[in-house]
Amino acid sequence: MTSARDTYEAFKARGLKLNMQRGQPSDADFDLSNGLLSILTDRDYRTPGGLDLRNYPGGVAGIPEARALFGRYLDLPPAQVIVWNNASLELQGHVLTWALLKGLPRSNGPWAAQRPKIIVTVPGYDRHFLLLETLGFELVTVPMQPDGPDLDAIERIAAEDASVKGVLFVPTYSNPGGETLSPDKAARLARLEAAAPDFTIFADDAYRVHHLFDDERDTAVNLVALCAAAGHPDRCFVFASTSKITFAGAGLGFLGSSEANVKALSAWLNAQSIGPNKIEQYRHVRFLEAYPGGLEGLMRDHARLIAPKFQAVYDTLERELGGSGLARWTTPRGGYFISLDTTLPVADRVVRLAEEAGVSLTPAGATYPGGRDPNNSNIRIAPTRPPLEEVGVAMQVVAACIRLASEEYRARQD
Ligand code: PMP
Repeated sequence: MTSARDTYEAFKARGLKLNMQRGQPSDADFDLSNGLLSILTDRDYRTPGGLDLRNYPGGVAGIPEARALFGRYLDLPPAQVIVWNNASLELQGHVLTWALLKGLPRSNGPWAAQRPKIIVTVPGYDRHFLLLETLGFELVTVPMQPDGPDLDAIERIAAEDASVKGVLFVPTYSNPGGETLSPDKAARLARLEAAAPDFTIFADDAYRVHHLFDDERDTAVNLVALCAAAGHPDRCFVFASTSKITFAGAGLGFLGSSEANVKALSAWLNAQSIGPNKIEQYRHVRFLEAYPGGLEGLMRDHARLIAPKFQAVYDTLERELGGSGLARWTTPRGGYFISLDTTLPVADRVVRLAEEAGVSLTPAGATYPGGRDPNNSNIRIAPTRPPLEEVGVAMQVVAACIRLASEEYRARQD
């Protein structure tokens, strides 16, 4: 029988150069939206509503057509939506910075004066940790579970510590595990009894419409509406963008919240900008309305490109590691990532071995604050960017690395 070392060395000898690291769309995904680049002509500088896109006036919360379109995405009326520029992370930064410096409308003062803490889910998204840590928040981690964050932990932590100001997580097809918040947990979050009167849910709904399969879909919840129904109308901000819909580097970020929060945040944004890029917004509206089947049609075309890549990961891992007891992994029905956990504490060794064999993976630890995974077990798999034929090979290499790293670990224990 071939040893784990021999299998690994055979892959290494192939001189592969495969990248499974970042959650980026493929060029074929981008190509679906190339129509964005020519949808407007030199006569399209005025909206049907009469707004001249070239001049300043138009409102800081975005052009009405874009607020309506992305309101439908978030299942919220336009008055509860702000459409901004190309990154939802920037909007998250705006709300968090505003909370730190001034406090949110329900706050009794700036958060910065209160040594604020934010709950995050682990494994989670490294850029959430980077943003919060850069702004000076202390992070409190709770486990992500198959139906959303560990609500028992959140309820306990939020109830006993008034410096815990909120929770930031991905409610639909989470990064990295693809988990979706259940209606039951969403309702518990909406009615949660928190020690902080301004406890806030920051829901980064980056993958709300990113289903992989037509017949099997997770259902996204409406956290803003649930909070309102539970008597906490201003408790939630939900963020999203078109980064994984049109262009990652030139899309639109938007958010939804209560009308009161939208008004207050608009005043904050208005102090810094006369308004977002209206031509980009109008271009997106025109493109998404003209796309066959609209936004839903575009997402189905993305799914046709992306679902086979996810399936290749599931099939390869099952074939190579199923029943081995060496690893377990999530099998999401949407989103951009798969979360893989080695049984033994060897994630860093697996990532290093893979790198040496030409397969670049997200650094071990990246899914935990400070880059430190206490179990050294979690690896984020990002299958969207490489071509389909490379995904299966890359996962074979990952499986070989897990076998070898586990064998080495056991040998050291003996
Ligand atoms: N949120 C999540 C959960 C993501 O996975 C990503 C991209 N990897 C982003 C936000 C980035 O979004 P944007 O480009 O809109 O800032």
